[in-house]
Amino acid sequence: MPSDQGFLDHISDMLVTIREEGLWKRERAITGAQGTWIEAEGRRMLNLCANNYLGLADDPRLIRAATAAMESHGYGLASVRFICGTQDLHRQLEIRLADYLGQEDAILFAACFDANGAVFEPLLGPEDAVISDSLNHASIIDGIRLSKARRYRFANGDPAALEAELLVARKDGARHILIATDGVFSMDGTFAPLAEIRALADRYDAWLMVDDCHATGFVGPEGRGTPARAGIRADIVTGTLGKALGGALGGYVAGPQGLVDLLRQRARPYLFSNALPPAVTGAGLAALDIVEAADDLRGQLEANAIYWRNGLESLGFHLLPGSHPIVPLMLGDAVLAQRMAAGLALRDVHVAGFFFPVVPKGQARIRTQMNARLTRGDLDFALDAFAAVGRELGVI
Ligand SMILES: *Cc1c(COP(=O)(O)O)cnc(C)c1O
Repeated sequence: MPSDQGFLDHISDMLVTIREEGLWKRERAITGAQGTWIEAEGRRMLNLCANNYLGLADDPRLIRAATAAMESHGYGLASVRFICGTQDLHRQLEIRLADYLGQEDAILFAACFDANGAVFEPLLGPEDAVISDSLNHASIIDGIRLSKARRYRFANGDPAALEAELLVARKDGARHILIATDGVFSMDGTFAPLAEIRALADRYDAWLMVDDCHATGFVGPEGRGTPARAGIRADIVTGTLGKALGGALGGYVAGPQGLVDLLRQRARPYLFSNALPPAVTGAGLAALDIVEAADDLRGQLEANAIYWRNGLESLGFHLLPGSHPIVPLMLGDAVLAQRMAAGLALRDVHVAGFFFPVVPKGQARIRTQMNARLTRGDLDFALDAFAAVGRELGVI
């Protein structure tokens, strides 16, 4: 029995509130590999909610590369990078990532959450300013909180609002300004207006950082991401190995040599956390080889996203407009989103309801995501299920 029972009671109260508000998240255990079809709770389900955009999460080539890297380089490093945790595979992957993204160098982290948590604090002091899109990922928000820079926020995807904040930051006497934005907003599947943002960054002499987790590997020429799609240069790119690039884990910051060198000396999630294991770095290198040559998969992904959006729209669902393989079906109410997900599960379609705190209150949704391996048959199966459950719940 802990000494302060009131503390445990306080925790119980919070849990009760979460349940009462219909915000309780339940996890469905998958009993095999991540894929287009998954085994879960004794049934085979079509999976429409993984970030597995190119379908590489169970790719035999990556499994072989991971196995080979474990055979040659062991299971783990039992060290942070700077003590005795750096292998040739880490540097090879960093150089390969930087090259793919058109940056001078890159530095690996345990996750992009850590990369975003790491990048602001060493770079920006109290004399500096960071201007952040209001829908930026939680890890950017947390990373900014850890820095001493002055903070400014602009309305999602709104260049005029960004310019207003740039003016304020300059008027406040900022030494250096960093604009931070997601390349793709993960809850909405919308793109940041990077051409406009780059022009403003140049006009106000600011740097631009783009978190491209939901783009690298499948958006833009050769999948080089949203800056390549917009035809602009980002000063800093952060990203993940946990989505299109194989789906395991690992994050990175890519940018100018000096920035990467500084992060290696000063970034706390780098200095105080373990090195990525060989299975991840070895397979990461193989993933980049596959992804660079994967125009066929990118074409299939795009075709699937168009077919899926059109199918849902003709059924009468309310979607957020866009073209990204993230296709959110807007429902508003958290309980309704939960019931929709439960109804779809009964029809062997696995999706998750998204509600507060991952989206604002009253904007609950089912976020569906396409991948390159879904067939027309899979999508028609899912459309039938969405139609049936949508009618049952009076959504369409
Ligand atoms: C998924 C995601 C992250 C976190 O990436 P991890 O490598 O899973 O920690 C960061 N930013 C954005 C925009 C994301 O979508």
